Amino acid sequence: MAVDLLEARDGGPDQAGFAPYAASEFNSLGRQYSEPPDKFRTLYQRDCDRIIHAAAFRSLEYKTQVMVNHADGSFRTRLTHSIEVAKLSRTLSRALRLNEDLSESIALAHDLGHTPFGHAGQDALDDCMKEYGGFEHNLQSLRVIDKLEHKYAEFRGLNLSFETREGVLKRCPKEIAKTLGPLGERFLKGGSPTLEAQLVDFADQIAYTNHDLDDGLRLGFLDLEEVRDLRLFSRAYDAACKASPKLSRHALLHEANRRMITAMMVDLILATGKRIEQARPDSPQAVRACTERLAGFSAELRAELASVTRLLHEKYYHHHQLAQATGQAVRVIRELFRVFMDRPQLLPTELCCRASEKKAIRGGAGQARVIADYIASLSDRHILAEHRKIFDVTK
Ligand code: MG
Repeated sequence: MAVDLLEARDGGPDQAGFAPYAASEFNSLGRQYSEPPDKFRTLYQRDCDRIIHAAAFRSLEYKTQVMVNHADGSFRTRLTHSIEVAKLSRTLSRALRLNEDLSESIALAHDLGHTPFGHAGQDALDDCMKEYGGFEHNLQSLRVIDKLEHKYAEFRGLNLSFETREGVLKRCPKEIAKTLGPLGERFLKGGSPTLEAQLVDFADQIAYTNHDLDDGLRLGFLDLEEVRDLRLFSRAYDAACKASPKLSRHALLHEANRRMITAMMVDLILATGKRIEQARPDSPQAVRACTERLAGFSAELRAELASVTRLLHEKYYHHHQLAQATGQAVRVIRELFRVFMDRPQLLPTELCCRASEKKAIRGGAGQARVIADYIASLSDRHILAEHRKIFDVTK
């Protein structure tokens, strides 16, 4: 019996089932370096594959989300977070007839520029780079996909589609936006990214809010009674208790968590759908022209979510046990940055050469950027090992 293969693609539009405002190959602004289309994969499927094969993606496995390199492997890391965001983003896109593959590629790449040790690591590296143009993880994500992943013969970076790069770049100071061509325009003139990109931002928020509540409760940093004062959580928790009163605490928390995720997803889909209905965009360009974003929660959910975020900041992100780990993270990054600036020969050989080349062209700032790229690329485990190796020998 002949196998019924999917018909090879001719590179033509793949608009099947999409809303007119969905991004697609048909209306894509393309790649920086043009490439022939793939026989079986769409433009954005190919972006997803390139991201998954990137070294920066693999190192997310041992990068902190909130807990620093916890011995118990059941807490979230940047890798599991990125996968959760990708799954939520696909669901959102499918519900609104948008391009699921594009939302997945943006989600998979959205945290590639994160340093080791989470936000504490980013702040420490930014502080080290103060005189040299600073460091910001979101801009670094774009730098990783555009420049730092260097393994293809025909171009530097991953040569991802404009739409994936646009979605990854959430914030951008005007000075830098001016250097980015069409990618920087919306930060200079106003406007929005594609709906797929807008929804990934919310999928990110849904993922971290829920997994941080879950991790915080399991660690005992958050108190269940306090969390039950939050309407968004208590509705989900009470419904779970009512449906299954005999469940263990562990299972009840999971039941509450999944109900809360569903409530946020449904609210986001319905509220976004309403705004799309009012604005009636007929293309991704029309979405981009909107100065107000079309994706978003309802006003009620936004207010409830604000209380959850407040509690997470007060009781989890600034918990004294996390602060200890944060202190160590800051010290490790500062010491390594300083030692590499003073003695670049301690860098891996290839980077040492690169640092001296860049120093010859751009002075200290050039050398500092190579060091920041290196430090940012390390996982929590790798940077601790690197620090031990250098400071145990040089003591
Ligand atoms: Mg994220």
